[in-house]
Amino acid sequence: MNNISDVSLKGKKVLIRVDFNVPLDKHFNITDDSRIQAALPTIKKVIASGGRAIIMSHLGRPKNGFEEKFSLKHILMRLSNLLKVKVGFSAECIGGKTLNDISKMEDGGVLVLENLRFYSQEKTGDNEFAKQLAKLGDVYVNDAFGTAHRAHASTFAIANYFPKNKYFGLLLSTEINNLEIALKNPKRPFTAIIGGAKITGKIDVITSLLDKVDNLIIGGGMAYTFAKAMGGCIGDSLVENDKVALAKSLITKAKAKGVQLLLPSDSINANEFNNNAIIQHSEITNIPDGFMGLDIGSDSITRFSKVILDSKTIIWNGPMGVFEMDNFLNGTKKIGEAICKATKKGAFSLVGGGDSVAAVKKFGFTKKVSYISTGGGAMLEYLEGKKLPGVIAIQD
Ligand code: AMP
Repeated sequence: MNNISDVSLKGKKVLIRVDFNVPLDKHFNITDDSRIQAALPTIKKVIASGGRAIIMSHLGRPKNGFEEKFSLKHILMRLSNLLKVKVGFSAECIGGKTLNDISKMEDGGVLVLENLRFYSQEKTGDNEFAKQLAKLGDVYVNDAFGTAHRAHASTFAIANYFPKNKYFGLLLSTEINNLEIALKNPKRPFTAIIGGAKITGKIDVITSLLDKVDNLIIGGGMAYTFAKAMGGCIGDSLVENDKVALAKSLITKAKAKGVQLLLPSDSINANEFNNNAIIQHSEITNIPDGFMGLDIGSDSITRFSKVILDSKTIIWNGPMGVFEMDNFLNGTKKIGEAICKATKKGAFSLVGGGDSVAAVKKFGFTKKVSYISTGGGAMLEYLEGKKLPGVIAIQD
């Protein structure tokens, strides 16, 4: 990997694509700065080497043009405090004004450019826009794993303009290295835990994981479609009727490939989708009408935990239930605990996807798993075996 650690950056204008797409409250305060924290090693490395760090990112989903709530100026103070250096801001991300702001930078300086997605050309991967961005720097570094699965102007097209000066940032290379631990010669047994609301969006990863893992644990809302596929009564639980046949075929495929597919055997059910609902416990294939399954039950937790504790490589994407509500967080918490215990025993554990990462943080497991990925979609696509445009673009 052509990494920034291998190159002299002194006096260079280093254009760094980061993922500063952080959540903001209505007063524009950052509510979770993990993504900024994750990009710090690269930025620190650049400025410590005497480079001039020019930072590009997107924030939120602006339509086309400036929107106050999506301005990257809201992250300046936090970035300054974390880096302990004054951080400048350019109110544009291309053009004369930005070039002028850059020309005033000193070695070791940091300048954040305004939101790339204020230009619709960013998401379309427009070459002309990429060329304008490329004019801003001598060296291009991609450190935005969260958007590495997108062929956008700043993650993909731009790399063409730096044939000899394009590098992996430290976060991006760490993400890839950790995914490779799981994908290339994983220590066995290898267990994947996939949860979350729906099968849609995770079909490809489930299918491709069947070629790699020894155990595949399915939880969360998607488990009810599998329960229906097995002929169960699932009451008012979340179900994707158009995916029942697919769930059946995945059960058959797992058997044919010798993969142990573990589905929940029991379910915690509620008569309404809220924390004050009436709660009851049943087999997952026997949920009464008027109730919906919102968490896995104790029998499932015991079965899943046993397999997890015996595993040597573990991937987790997606919660086991509606962990945002106190009455339905137990399954996700207990599965998280089992992963932490297995990690303590020497297993390699990798967690990714916005909601599983939120769960890991909520339950205080952050330091007890081996690696937390900053990318949900990018992690899933990498696990599927897809080549990520943001990675291909900077490979030699
Ligand atoms: P995803 O984005 O697909 O990973 O889904 C995450 C969301 O799935 C979380 O917000 C959970 O609350 C939700 N979820 C998990 N289990 C269930 C369930 N049994 N019924 C409905 N939603 C669920």
